Amino acid sequence: MKLNDVITAIATPPGKGGIGIIRISGSSALEVANKVFIPKNDNILNKKHGEFVYGDIISQSGELIDHGIALVMLNKKSFTGEDTIELQAHGGTVVLRSIISSVVQAGARIADPGEFSKRAFLNGKIDLTQAEAICDIINAKSDRAAKAALRQLNGSLSNICHKIYYNLIEITANLESTIDFVEDELPNDVFTDIQYKLNNTLNDINELIYTWNEGRILREGISIAIIGKPNAGKSTLFNNLLGEDRAIISSTPGTTRDFLEENYVIDGYPFKLVDTAGLRESICNIELEGIRRTKLYTKQADIILYLIDASKPFESDDKLQLSKINNDRLIIVLNKIDNGKCITINNGVEISALHKKGLNNLKKRIIKIIKKDNIDIGSEAIISERHKSLLIASKNEMILAHNLLNDSIEENSVFICDHLRKALEFIGQITGQIYHNELLDNIFSRFCIGK
Ligand code: GDP
Repeated sequence: MKLNDVITAIATPPGKGGIGIIRISGSSALEVANKVFIPKNDNILNKKHGEFVYGDIISQSGELIDHGIALVMLNKKSFTGEDTIELQAHGGTVVLRSIISSVVQAGARIADPGEFSKRAFLNGKIDLTQAEAICDIINAKSDRAAKAALRQLNGSLSNICHKIYYNLIEITANLESTIDFVEDELPNDVFTDIQYKLNNTLNDINELIYTWNEGRILREGISIAIIGKPNAGKSTLFNNLLGEDRAIISSTPGTTRDFLEENYVIDGYPFKLVDTAGLRESICNIELEGIRRTKLYTKQADIILYLIDASKPFESDDKLQLSKINNDRLIIVLNKIDNGKCITINNGVEISALHKKGLNNLKKRIIKIIKKDNIDIGSEAIISERHKSLLIASKNEMILAHNLLNDSIEENSVFICDHLRKALEFIGQITGQIYHNELLDNIFSRFCIGK
């Protein structure tokens, strides 16, 4: 990537809006902006960092496109670490496209997705975990997820990774210093000290790996699968929990043949509510596939709401299904209690999905499982799938080093150092202290245009 070219993009979402923002960034961004933006009685080129100016936005043939504001952010103080101008115009698709086209004709090129953040990284303004946090803030599905992402942007994960990284450097340096020593001259406790520090670093890594489930839950939501026989009222419950008509409700059994997924928040906890195909014997291939997926989902979901039509007798196939599900994740929901005489089951939550009765009790039971299960989502630093695989790879190298330390250290020092250096490389890739282009492309291509 050429860092000295000027990039531009519309930073606000597509569609109509009160204001639309166009970003221009690069070493000669001011010169480009100067050809597009004519301030009223002023000059954009003599503006200081953080100043803004009102003026006309023009095409390269000199035609007026819109009136707007230019915000000037200079060099190291800007987000990207290079001169950046943000043009605020009216938020209409045609206007913004015309402005972009004028900016391109004035010398900029259209930015790739995430390229502003990528430049911020390459210019040392943020590390990779902070860049990823920006993406997470934009994609956050709940308040808690947004807060966790903000903590990461503020450096919560970077700090721990740096600590691990520099501990590993220190251990490796200590060990390397022993290589040239004659055995008898080595201080007695040098290897005990190395072992102690390595153990502590392994503990730090393990603690961090442990937060992966929290990260998954914050990004994807705690999965709740609504399962049960056809006509138990699964789709009605799904819709009424969400408060909208999302699933097709029908008295014909077997209507939901695939999953319906929606994000849902209870008490600030993010959930992914899933309506599944009803469990029953079927000869229809599509329905059978739906049932196969339901069974798979039953294994994976964090919480299962097993719905039973309580106005009918408790049937043996329901008993059989229930016996297969782990009790810690299971809530038996007795539906249709509005239908008069109903069966009762120990610990079952009684509801009428149709009349929205008992739904608050059901929500309380869901939260109770989360609290009991320690599905905690308040850790200072939380990792993603990418961080997890790098941490595990690093941990494995450290374990190999550790095992060699337990053998004859003096002879193995070179090999131990080798494993520690590899462990270091994996940790370095989390923050971006060590990176390659493929890694950056992989991360930044997931960003939206203009970020
Ligand atoms: P699913 O096959 O399990 O998804 O069941 P649906 O949600 O499609 O509901 C099947 C039928 O049961 C529909 O006619 C619903 O109106 C009805 N139903 C669902 N919940 C209740 C309830 O709480 N009370 C009564 N009386 N009928 C319900």
